[in-house]
Parts: sequence; C-alpha cells; structure tokens
Amino acid sequence: MTETIFSKIIRKEIPADIVYEDDLVLAFRDVNPQAPVHILIIPKRPIVSIAEVTPADTELLGYLLLTVARVAAQEGLEEGYRIVINTGKDGGQTVFHLHLHLLGQRMMTWPPG
Ligand code: ADP
Repeated sequence: MTETIFSKIIRKEIPADIVYEDDLVLAFRDVNPQAPVHILIIPKRPIVSIAEVTPADTELLGYLLLTVARVAAQEGLEEGYRIVINTGKDGGQTVFHLHLHLLGQRMMTWPPG
C-alpha cells in the first residue's frame, strides 16, 4: 500500500490532535470537522479500505469498533453518534488508509449525501 497522510500522523511526522492511542490504533480529530465532535479512528497497520480486509484482520476490525465506543464515551456522547466508513471512489473515500469517522454532538440526518 502506498503512503498516505495518515502514515505520517502515525509516525508523528505531522501534527494531529490525538485523543486515544495504543499499539494497534490511533484516534485523532478530523482537520475538517463535519460535526462538533468528528474523530477518525485508524489501525496503525496500513489497510487500504474495508474492501481490502482479510480474515487476518477480523480481530483488529472488532477492536476498531471497541475503540470507537471507548472514544465516544470519553467525548461524552451519551445521546448517540454516527460511525461512517467511506469505502472506495463511490463511497467518497479520499484517504486510502482505513478510517472510521466518529461524528457526534449534533442530530444526524438520513439518507447521508
Ligand atoms: P472525505 O475526505 O470525503 O471525508 P474520507 O472518508 O477518506 O473522505 O475521509 C478522510 C478524512 O480525513 C476527511 O474527513 C479529512 O478531513 C480528514 N483529514 C485529511 N487530512 C487530515 C489531517 N492531516 N488531520 C486530520 N484529518 C485529516
């Protein structure tokens, strides 16, 4: 997989507002927030997108969702939140390192754009 801006964030080569980090995952505030709380949760292992995952990623994918819930609790999102995983061109993905968007502190609408 080719380098993305998220690889540089993981290596701390460019700054990010990190809200959670451990050996497997990193969570940081989106630079262009679409809600009062907008955080990206990424695996440190470089995976391009959900379309590229393999059975070897099963545990990591579950751990990413657990991390979303942990960060949402940390951010005080008791009223709820939305998790988005844009996948590929039609999914609106622009950074090709798997990331989960955590959006909260406003009422979400449906359908998404
Ligand atoms: P989209 O750009 O359409 O939201 P993605 O789902 O691929 O597509 O999301 C990439 C996200 O990464 C965007 O929300 C963008 O604002 C965010 N982003 C890009 N560069 C940075 C950065 N340096 N720090 C934090 N967030 C970033």
